[in-house]
Formats: sequence, structure tokens, C-alpha cells
Amino acid sequence: MHEIYEPVIGLEVHAQLSTKTKIFCACSTKFGNPPNTNVCPVCLGHPGVLPVLNKKVVEYSIKMGLAVDAKINSHSVFARKNYFYPDLPKGYQISQFELPICENGKIDITSQDGSIKSIGIKRIHMEEDAGKLIHERDNETFIDANRCGVPLIEIVTEPDLRSPKEAYDYLTNLKLILTYLDICDVNMEEGSLRCDANISIRKKGDKKLYTRTEIKNLNSFRNVEKALEFEFNRQIDLIENGEDIVQQTLLWNADLNEATPMRGKEEAHDYRYFPEPDLVPAKISNDRIDEIEKSLPELPSLKFERFIKNYSLSKYDAEILISSIELADYFEKVCKTTNEFKSASNWMISEVLKYLNEHKLDITQFPISPEHLGKLINLIKDGTISGKIGKDVFEFMFNSDEDPEKIVNEKGLLQISDLSELEVMIDSIIAKHPKDAEDYRNGNKKVIGFFVGQVMRETNGKANPQLVNKLLTEKLSRSI
Ligand code: ADP
Ligand code: ZN
Ligand code: MG
Repeated sequence: MHEIYEPVIGLEVHAQLSTKTKIFCACSTKFGNPPNTNVCPVCLGHPGVLPVLNKKVVEYSIKMGLAVDAKINSHSVFARKNYFYPDLPKGYQISQFELPICENGKIDITSQDGSIKSIGIKRIHMEEDAGKLIHERDNETFIDANRCGVPLIEIVTEPDLRSPKEAYDYLTNLKLILTYLDICDVNMEEGSLRCDANISIRKKGDKKLYTRTEIKNLNSFRNVEKALEFEFNRQIDLIENGEDIVQQTLLWNADLNEATPMRGKEEAHDYRYFPEPDLVPAKISNDRIDEIEKSLPELPSLKFERFIKNYSLSKYDAEILISSIELADYFEKVCKTTNEFKSASNWMISEVLKYLNEHKLDITQFPISPEHLGKLINLIKDGTISGKIGKDVFEFMFNSDEDPEKIVNEKGLLQISDLSELEVMIDSIIAKHPKDAEDYRNGNKKVIGFFVGQVMRETNGKANPQLVNKLLTEKLSRSI
């Protein structure tokens, strides 16, 4: 990246847990309801009310902890994080400080040279979200408290990332884990996943780090990567020019592609954390942890390895096929019907995903059953139909999801592999085009493409291409 300096990066990700109700009250977490309708005295911070911890929030947090090999604290404490902001009616946020629910995990990424690198997860803690300020008209700001008390987990890495690209890859893997666990809908536009990035630089080989900064307002993984690149270069320029790096929070401006400092006041932190007196510590038994562990799905990194091993897939193919549990399941069902794994993977990646993208569907809505796709692949493999006809049958199946064998029989699509039938046809085609045949004999071997095309036209694409090629080569080489 740079000859002299390297970046040191740590990420803090807030993931909204997809529970039906808020973390300390029974209000709905539904996104998009009219402002201030998902509220009650608890989440509005009225005096004298008491928070009650949502059991699902604890379960989801433990799931995440187990998925990243973290230690689950059997005794975990809530804390008040005090600050004033208009979207925080209580004047404090209930979060965790000491004794978060999970500590010391890791998420693996593949580094540039292809080796696996573990990114340390320092902690995962539970907390409530704040409300939202809406600056709709000039000089008027509205407060929507619907989001107050929506459950979040904050996932904090060690400063283990060494390039903006690694940060991007880490986020991609993190998002996939959240999706597999089905604990967050990972919608960045709706704010279900938010990321703050911390970065400092040092001379390669040195231990000493310069002052770090933090970047906020990052609303896509690409923006995280871009902002880190920007900030890495900005910090290098400062040092090279003999200036100091000021410890501060910057806001990323995606339109201008630059990060600008937040106003000083907004970032003065003195949260004065103290234990939340209204909530007892969360006690988690080993039995409960075991029970949750048993409910975990196969995680993306394991599925990835297994796909490569069991189906002899390339890393590239495996990565695409495991990009959702449902897609991976579909693929595995196809592979129960056919042993042509590579071919199944090709059909999935080119044809199936193309169809899904064009129709804006996901795999659970795909009209063709995996059994029928598997059968279709077998029909091509055993020469019953040509690959080209296979594509046509595939399209018929979009509308009917009928057995491909039935479609082939009913529509008369069987591949023509009958030698004598093809020979007669090829002889007559050669006879009709003596000049092209002569061209071929004079060394212009490319002309064979023209003849193949003619045979295919005559047979509506049903001729066995290998056979046609073989016959044409034989017959054309023979002098008349
Ligand atoms: P604080 O208590 O100031 O919030 P933390 O130790 O909790 O700091 O770290 C917050 C985030 O900053 C973590 O993701 C961590 O990895 C990252 N971080 C810590 N030190 C550095 C550094 N020198 N350079 C870049 N990131 C850092
Ligand atoms: Zn409420
Ligand atoms: Mg911190």
C-alpha cells in the first residue's frame, strides 16, 4: 500500500438485533412506522419506570459471541452511559462497560497472499439505540423516538486490521455471520448495521503508533474502505510535513469523498459510566450456553471449506454459493440429484443467479426446483439433449417447473445422435456449399464453424455437437 507507513485499524460495528420488541420494554421495533408511535414511558425515559431485559436480546448476543469463538461472560453487567443529546430523552444510554456479554473472539479473513488471518474481537456488548433527529425544514428539527430502546450489539475489534481492504473483507464476513445467525437484517440504509472506523499509522517495522482518529457516518462498506484510504493518506501527509495528528472524530462525506472533523463539542466524551441500578446483572448458565450453541447453523467459514472439499469447487465458486444459507441449500439439493457438481455450480452462478437478478427475486422464490435442475444437468451430461437445448428447457421450466425429461419428450427436443441421419444431412449441406468446402481443404479450418451452424439450423439445435464436429472434420477433409 505504502512503502514507509502502514495503517492500524480497528472497527466498531453496531448491529440492530431483529427482535420483535425493544430491549427493555414491549414496544415494537418495526421500521418505518409513523414517528413516535412505537413508544411507551419506559423507552421515552419517563421518571420512575423500570426497564425489563428482553430475553431474546441476550440469546442473540450469545449466538454472535459463540459464532466468533468469544468467551461468554456468565455474569454480565449493564451500565449507564451519560450524555445529553435531544434524541436521548433519559439523558443516558443503557449499555455495557465492564463485563460485557462477550469478550475475546475472532473473525477470520483471507489476506492478500491468500493466507487466513484472524481479526480479534475485543468485546461484544448489548445496548439500546437512541432516537432519531429529523432535520426536515430550515431551522426546524423533529425528534422521532421510535428507535429509542431498539436493541443493538456493538462488536469491537482489536486494532488488527492492516489495510482498508482488510476492513472491507472483515465487514463482509461479519455481515455474512449476522445473516447466517438470522439475528440482524443487515440493512445499512435503514441503519441496522453501522460502522465507525479507528485508524492510526506507524512506520513499517516500528511499534510506535501516531495518534489515532475515528471516522463516523459511514453508510456502506465501500465508504468505510474509501474513508480509511483517505484518512491513511491524510495522516501520512501530516507526519511528512512535520505536523501533528490531532485526536478527533471525523465525518465522512461520501459526495465529496473526504472526511471533515466534527465540531469539538460534539465529541467531548465524558460518559461517566456507572452500573445501571435498575437492572440486575444478566446471569447466564453453562446449560443455557450449550443449548444456544446447539441451535447455531453451520457457519459460513465452515460451509466454505466443506463446499470446496465435498464438491471440488474453486474458492471463487464456493464463496458465491455460500453467500446465503438458502442459496447454499439449493445448490446442495441440486447435488443430491446430479453428481456433476462443477456443472451444477456453473448453472447456479451463471443461469440461476442471472435469472434471480433480472427478476429481483431471491432463491427461495426461484420457480425451478433443485431436483429438476439436477435432472436437466444429467440430461445434458448423458447426451440426451445438447447444452444449447438445455438452456431452452431451462427457460420452459421457469413457467412450469415440469420434469425436464417430460419437456424434452413432449417438445421433441431429443438430441440427434443418430449417425446415418446426420451423415445424410451433412453430405447434402457440403454438396450445397462446394466453395466453402474447398476453402476448408485449402487450409481455412475456420470454415467448419459455418458448417456446424448450418447443421444446427437444420436440426433446430438438436444435433449432438461433438458428433457433428467429428463427422464434418472427416467429410470435409476427404477430397471429392
Ligand atoms: P476507547 O476506549 O477509546 O473507545 P477502545 O480501546 O475501546 O478505545 O477501542 C475502540 C476501537 O479503536 C477499537 O476497535 C480498537 O481496535 C480501535 N483502536 C484502538 N487503538 C487504536 C489505534 N492505535 N489505531 C487504530 N485503532 C485503534
Ligand atoms: Zn417502549
Ligand atoms: Mg471503546
